[in-house]
Amino acid sequence: MAKKTIRDVELKGKKVLVRVDFNVPMDKKTREITDDNRIVQALPTIQYIIDQGGKAILFSHLGKVEKEEDKEKNSLRPVAKRLSELLNKEVVFVPVTRGKELEDAIYNLKEGDVLLFENTRFEDLDGKKESKNNPELGAYWASLGDVFVNDAFGTAHRAHASNVGIATHLECVSGFLMEKEIKFIGGAVDNPVHPYVAILGGAKVSDKITVIENLLDKADKVLVGGGMMFTFLKAQGYNIGKSLCEDDRLEFAKGLLEKAQGKLVLPVDTVVAKEFNNNAPHRVAKIDDIKEDEMGLDIGPETVKLFADALVGAKTVVWNGPRGVFEMPNFAKGTIGVCEAIANLEGAVTIIGGGDSAAAAIQLGYADRFTHISTGGGASLEFLEGKTLPGVAAIADK
Ligand code: ADP
Ligand code: MG
Repeated sequence: MAKKTIRDVELKGKKVLVRVDFNVPMDKKTREITDDNRIVQALPTIQYIIDQGGKAILFSHLGKVEKEEDKEKNSLRPVAKRLSELLNKEVVFVPVTRGKELEDAIYNLKEGDVLLFENTRFEDLDGKKESKNNPELGAYWASLGDVFVNDAFGTAHRAHASNVGIATHLECVSGFLMEKEIKFIGGAVDNPVHPYVAILGGAKVSDKITVIENLLDKADKVLVGGGMMFTFLKAQGYNIGKSLCEDDRLEFAKGLLEKAQGKLVLPVDTVVAKEFNNNAPHRVAKIDDIKEDEMGLDIGPETVKLFADALVGAKTVVWNGPRGVFEMPNFAKGTIGVCEAIANLEGAVTIIGGGDSAAAAIQLGYADRFTHISTGGGASLEFLEGKTLPGVAAIADK
């Protein structure tokens, strides 16, 4: 469904509340931001508000705040500093989440100014007000602004006071990042252009049962890899040695294989080792030749070829789940090979959902070869499951 966006509202002179996702990784000791991608991804929305003469009031969660001691290490102050550098402009940082200090700072904003207030989860210390969507808190934050923009896709699968709560009092529109996520991931879920090939993997079957079922429903082919492939191979009767396997999911895997009628494409070879270690001696084995003391840690070269062939002509590709233990260079070749095959497709919309899959594509140097890499790990997975995300549902329809 088409959602209202920031382009649909008047911003000049308005106090614009913006829920951003500034939940960035930080070094435990120095509190330096180790990856500012989420801040960078929010810049188009913030810059647009500045250019339109709005007053940007930004807020986000950062980590979990369960005890008083968590406050210092989860303060957004370093984020305000980084944002100021990226915008090349002053960012007013307000070290509280409510009260006179915040209200005065907002009152003093001029057109084009940017303010960031403290971690919304500071409110969790007092009865989980943010995370449990306390109605008083949502109403209070809503009272601080004239317009509400949600640009935090990464938290869209949660109904918190800072997204859903505010939206019950003030019309919510999407920012540019949220709009992009809905367009690409939502598009692939609701009306993908065919042929549609899904690449599914990752560690475990049990984490992704609904994703598998939903993708099997929508896609023309599902290429299975990663740790989960061994549960499927065992269900087909192969000996998988010490490979990752969930014996309590064998029946489920058998059922899916029957239902899939050939839509599920399974590997024909794998890279095996005797230990879960990059330096362990390894070899390529056909899937009917895995020894008792070996475990499969990647797909093999014939499987890369098989998957690359299956991708030819695809118009929509959704990738969730690395092909192997890509964190270890000796077991990253399968993931690289499939990245390469996707990168070379012409005229296809190619999307990555899932935290580790996004990390793999970035780490292996393929970040700019995909149409869209989702910024929301858990949110993108729930979207791919076909679930309604509360944060998206709360955005006004056009
Ligand atoms: P995502 O976060 O993209 O949804 P997952 O969390 O499901 O992906 O899976 C990613 C993890 O799966 C990676 O840490 C990777 O090392 C692991 N993995 C992939 N293949 C295997 C395998 N054959 N055996 C064990 N672990 C694997
Ligand atoms: Mg993961």
